[in-house]
Parts: sequence; structure tokens; C-alpha cells
Amino acid sequence: MSLKDAIKCLMTACTILIAFMNARRKGEIIHPHIGLQVGNLKTMDASLEIFMVDFFLEKGPKKRVPYFVNSATRDAITVLDDLQRQFGRLDESYCTGTSLFRYRHFNLESGLGVWAKFDFYEATRYGQDFSFMVEALGANPDFGGTRVFRRLHAVLHYYRYENGDIQALSRQLGHDVLGTTGKYIGDSLSRPEFQSVFDISSSEVEALKRAAITDLNDLEKEFEEVGYEKLMEEILIVLNGGLVSGGYQKIIKRLALKVAGLAQFHGTMEEKAQAVFQAVKARGHFPKVYKHGQCMVGGTVKVKSAKCHSHLDGRLHQENASPAVCGECVYHQSKAAYIRNLTADRERMERRLEESCPGPFERKRLESDLENLNLGIQLLRKRLGL
Ligand code: SF4
Repeated sequence: MSLKDAIKCLMTACTILIAFMNARRKGEIIHPHIGLQVGNLKTMDASLEIFMVDFFLEKGPKKRVPYFVNSATRDAITVLDDLQRQFGRLDESYCTGTSLFRYRHFNLESGLGVWAKFDFYEATRYGQDFSFMVEALGANPDFGGTRVFRRLHAVLHYYRYENGDIQALSRQLGHDVLGTTGKYIGDSLSRPEFQSVFDISSSEVEALKRAAITDLNDLEKEFEEVGYEKLMEEILIVLNGGLVSGGYQKIIKRLALKVAGLAQFHGTMEEKAQAVFQAVKARGHFPKVYKHGQCMVGGTVKVKSAKCHSHLDGRLHQENASPAVCGECVYHQSKAAYIRNLTADRERMERRLEESCPGPFERKRLESDLENLNLGIQLLRKRLGL
């Protein structure tokens, strides 16, 4: 592999990571003018791992808006920045506003060659970069559509607690990064650092807020689509006799019986699932993922039947969601994959208790959390018959 190939492989990897972690479009990352540039990353507080990046919103507002990013994104941008700094040693071209996705040609005859801009399309289809893609993502990685990274971001959101590969990635990166990706959206604008760092007027803040909200609304369509696909998948698991726990399977089975009993219904399992799906969708059901399973309550009006509903204020208290509370709820569905999260959490807590020498109050709290977690794991195992 030549030096140029290695640089392009690195840029490919950084593009994919930054795009799916932050639900950004390809152009918002690699375009020479609206893509990422030297100076776009700001460290607000390294010890608390608070970093911001000014992403240009290609669709709608067409301006740079600051977003909080996770440390994996910070690492990828820092690597690209270092690369530009090294190129800058050759001709002093490194400065704020320089694209992070340009590289220099080198050859044996004339040494330093011309500048080139990174072409993601070419990189993911031909040459060394393609073999790198196949190595990393399998034989047919398809990054053709402009929505693909935003969709991938939404898929990661819904499957982050039950897909072993995603959990392994999360552990490898050393943080609960996938848990934080979903929270990046527009949150920057509500933090006090935002005003001080960018030193801008309140009318500009308002304009940036509007831009971030437009972007959020656009992204929500992606989340909605993937969320409904997840709901359909859960229905199919139950109808095909998969191992699940929680009260939601009863709702699915009851509706399936109703559908099957209709004189005019002679459909396949897929069609039955589709009919059940339409029925629960009409009731407002929608999945929300927790470490211990999924809550399907969505925007249903029958909230009184939910276990976390309070008669005192007539509202749901999903902040109390836990294996013990949700396990008894008609809107809960879980499966064996979720036990991995709880077990990993337990290991983390046990390590903290052993290693960080907490004070008496902190120790008491940790011990109580650990007790609840153990209870949750036992409950989930029992309900799943494991
Ligand atoms: S108890 Fe749990 S599953 Fe039921 S509605 Fe509340 S959060 Fe959702």
C-alpha cells in the first residue's frame, strides 16, 4: 500500500466514523468548503470530555451550527488535523479554515506533487481503499445514498443495547459512545458555554437554534422510520415464537388472534404481522430503548395501564424505568441480549466499588444500585427461563 493509499484509507475511516456518530451527511464532512476544516473542533472541558464541532448544515439552514460531539469524533478530527499539520510543515499551508480532507501527491521523480481533494465515492469503490472497506464492512458496503449515515445513526440508536457488535464497538472505544450519540442533537445551543465561546449576539443564537431544530426535525423522520421497522421486527419475533419477556407480547398475541379470527383474513405470517403492526401503530405504540429492554408505550392514550403511571399526577414516570418496574408492565418487551448490558453494568459498578474508594454515602448508593441491578438480572433471567 502506498502512502497515498494509506492516507485515503484513514480519511475513509474518519469520514464513516464522524458521519454515523453524528448523523451528518457526507458533504458536511468532506466537502472542501462546507466540510470539516481546521479550527472546527473546540475543546470545552477535556477532563469532562466536552467537545464541540461546527458542522455546516447542508440541507435547509445552510450555515455552521455548533454540536456537542463524543470523544470518538474528537479523536477522528484530531487525527485529520494532525495530518494537515504535517502537510503544512512542507509548505506552511496549515491554517484555520483549511479542509481536513485534502492531501498531497508524492512521487519518486518530482517529490512533492499537487494537492488533491479526498473523493469518498472513489475511495469506497476502487483500489486499496476498497479492499480496506471490504475488510472492515464486508463485501458490499453501499454508501451511495445521501441519507445512509443518518439512517445508520438511527439504526445504531435502536439496536445499541441488543446487538453484540455494536456493544463490542462501544466497549472498544472505551465509552458508552453509542448511548451519547443520540443526545448530540442541538443540545449545544442550550448550554452556557455556547454563548461565551462563540461570542455572538442573541439574534444569532436564535438563528442557530432555528437551524438546529430544522436539522433535528429532518433527522426525526429517519428515527421514526427505523423505530417502526424495529416495532415490526419485535412483532414478528413474538408471532414466530421467539423468546421474549414482558407484557407487550400479550398485546401482540391478542391482536394477532383477533386478526386471525376475521373471516376475510387468509394471509401469511408477514401479513398477520403487518395487520398487528397497523393496529399498534394506530394506538400510538412506538419503541424506546432502555438497557433492560424496550418500552412500547410511545404516544398511547391508555397510559393508566403502564406500570410507571402515577395516579397522583396522571402522568407516566419513565425516569423510574427499571427491570423491576418495567418487567410487570404491559408495554415492556425484553430478550436475552439485554442481559449483556446489565451484566456489563454490574461489572463496571463492582470495579468502581473496588477501585475508586468511594466515601460512605457514595458507597451506600453504589451498593444499593448494585443490589437493584442484581435483582434486575435475576428477574430478567427468570422471566426468560434462562
Ligand atoms: S413501566 Fe417501563 S415499559 Fe411500562 S410504560 Fe413505564 S417505562 Fe415503559
